[in-house]
Amino acid sequence: MPDPAKHDPALPAADLPPSPVVPTIALTGDGKRHGHLRLPYSRDDSAWGSVMIPVSVIANGPGPTALLIGGNHGDEYEGPVALWDLARSLTPDQITGRVILLPALNQPAFATAGRTSPIDRGNLNRSFPGHPAGTVTQKIADFVTRALLPEADIVLDIHSGGRTLDFLPFAAAHELPDPAHQARCVAAMRAFGAPFSMVMREIDAVGMLDTTAEAMGKTFVTTELGGGGTVTAASAGIASRGIRGLLAHAGILPAPRPDPGPAPSRPLSMADDRATHVAPASGLCQPLRDLGERVAEGEPLALIHPADRLGAEPVTVRAQMPGLLAGRHFPGLVKLGDFLAVIATEL
Ligand code: ZN
Repeated sequence: MPDPAKHDPALPAADLPPSPVVPTIALTGDGKRHGHLRLPYSRDDSAWGSVMIPVSVIANGPGPTALLIGGNHGDEYEGPVALWDLARSLTPDQITGRVILLPALNQPAFATAGRTSPIDRGNLNRSFPGHPAGTVTQKIADFVTRALLPEADIVLDIHSGGRTLDFLPFAAAHELPDPAHQARCVAAMRAFGAPFSMVMREIDAVGMLDTTAEAMGKTFVTTELGGGGTVTAASAGIASRGIRGLLAHAGILPAPRPDPGPAPSRPLSMADDRATHVAPASGLCQPLRDLGERVAEGEPLALIHPADRLGAEPVTVRAQMPGLLAGRHFPGLVKLGDFLAVIATEL
């Protein structure tokens, strides 16, 4: 009899009903198939309608399975662009094992260019492990948790800053309780080969896909590859090369990597408690440092001017620690409590 007090909140409860999600293609078996995860969603404009989440499966014989996810947040585009392209171009004869691609996992959010779902305001990456009888977003999370993660040997969840954040392009692995598990994730992160590689401590880990996948012991890599609600040729290229590097690392694509990155990845850590800077006031944000610049402790990072009058003194935001400016608030206006900046330690 399991002790409920010992139940890992990142894992699903044992006695859940079946998922309402039905794939329109077989997820097992050799070949290449494109389809959808169909999630019934009854609503005013479509009484017996469904949410249709694009999925592709490319498989060739026995071997590892990679689960490649984009669009967990709907306003981050490196994952969708790279995976849309890969779904079209990758063929079974190029691989060993299986690749499952979900480029727009929170499809309702992706379709409306939002971080969260317009249906239930669900933040998919705060909805894990999900629930089969919950909201639309919780049902998506539950299907990933119970139907897809158990199939996967390696999991990549491609994020970027979205409309409100911008990051140095980095792949990330988390600090984990099991050193061997962390080492597996770090090796996969390095294989992704982003310009920067970050060992992270999440500020808000509850409900994340990351946490659930890691609780299952999966080799898990995430990224932050830019932001601002757009994608550049450079950031899309980092994502595409990174996915291929990761697939080669997993033994799914032949090694060595077909298209190595231009430079070795620079190791960073965001594990210092002082790394995250929160806006101490609302107003018009004047950056004094840009992404990738080195800053000293106490150095001014930004000024926040009162946005409703002229001639007033701004609030100065100072670096809480020395390091490399690795992420920042993107829009010109900032609110009290917004994430303003993150400083990474160069390793
Ligand atoms: Zn995200």
